[in-house]
Amino acid sequence: MQYNFKAIEEKWQKHWLKQQAFHAAVDAARKKYYLLEMFPYPSGKIHMGHVRNYTIGDVASRFKTLQGFNVMHPMGFDAFGQPAENAAIKNKTKPDLWTHKCIKEMETELKKMGFSYDWEREISTCDSDYYKWNQWIFLKMLERGLAYKKASGVNWCPSCQTTLANEEVVDGGCWRCHTKVEQKDLEQWYLKITEYKERLLEDLGQLQHWPERVLAMQNNWIGRSSGVDIYFGLKGSAKIIPVFTTRVDTIFGATYIVLAPEHPLVKELIKGRPEEKNVLSFIDKVAGESKLVRTSSDVKKEGVFTGALAVNPVNNEEVPIWVADYVLMEYGTGAIMAVPTHDQRDFLFAKEHQLPLRLVIAPQDGSVKPAQELKEAYEGDGVQVNSGEFNGLNNLEAKVRIASWMEQKGIGRIQTHWRLRDWLISRQRYWGT
Ligand SMILES: [Zn+2]
Repeated sequence: MQYNFKAIEEKWQKHWLKQQAFHAAVDAARKKYYLLEMFPYPSGKIHMGHVRNYTIGDVASRFKTLQGFNVMHPMGFDAFGQPAENAAIKNKTKPDLWTHKCIKEMETELKKMGFSYDWEREISTCDSDYYKWNQWIFLKMLERGLAYKKASGVNWCPSCQTTLANEEVVDGGCWRCHTKVEQKDLEQWYLKITEYKERLLEDLGQLQHWPERVLAMQNNWIGRSSGVDIYFGLKGSAKIIPVFTTRVDTIFGATYIVLAPEHPLVKELIKGRPEEKNVLSFIDKVAGESKLVRTSSDVKKEGVFTGALAVNPVNNEEVPIWVADYVLMEYGTGAIMAVPTHDQRDFLFAKEHQLPLRLVIAPQDGSVKPAQELKEAYEGDGVQVNSGEFNGLNNLEAKVRIASWMEQKGIGRIQTHWRLRDWLISRQRYWGT
């Protein structure tokens, strides 16, 4: 038997249209069911990905209808953004003309698929009767202080005259024209999502049956960490360098500290020192690298000595100040203390640059090795050694005691830092709300 697609599909699509089969009307007698799939971007033609995705939604919608639900299944287009703007420039037309032409084409194709949409409820995010609500929400957020403007450093291509996302910076150059990318301070709009950080974190607990992997990603994105800001001194100066750590129990094992290349103190530290030129060229090199790569665990960490010394406030020991790519200004205080014996990343860095090691937590089983013989950092729990008056304490207890001891002495402060940052929304140029 032959299935005559054209004739049969057309016949039923006409029938559905005449019957208004997919029109969602108010009906108090039936239970409501709202089904929404991700809107397509109007790029011009539908592809197999659309067919696959929207067939799944169509099956769900028809299934619910057959179960007796009053299903509302609308369709629309996510129609603003850079791709439409670029396509319009390329085709020498206007973004709205281009976008509406694409929408017409895709509508025709989607209708031919016979999907169960209520086309009367179609929306397009670039139409003013839709985006006026976007603007309304934005104004509400502005009133409440949840939308604000501030100057911040962005990647800037002087040739394209545009900002670039970190992913668009390739080997320090613009992905489009390879011009060397500059850091530029520009006024940018932000949404204050950090206002909701506690709720975002707490409410993850309400997400039943979510994959562990997704929850872990969310957790990591919010990135709450509790610890201590330790006030390291700067040798030969009254300046303080706050250093954030979640492992204050290892403070007596800090053998150097590391600043982010973007740290505001760096240029002052190196001024007039023999190390100055070397550090400046290192900073310049790192400025062109993506932050994702800089902090990923499988990339070798690089750094340089500044020539300056910091003073560890718990024992007045002088330790060298380094600048390294793996420390980011956006997280914590932009400075870390390095404890190579108890942190694997610090361990690898210290071995590479022949920096000293000192063990301050001995494993519970008594298997103490001289620090120099360690093959890797010991990151587990144990008993404090080489830690002054805290020797002999379990490190978890020491963590609490050292933190409050430091607060009392005014050389540290118990702190919570978050990885979550406010959302930069200034990327739109022309074709957007
Ligand atoms: Zn460019």
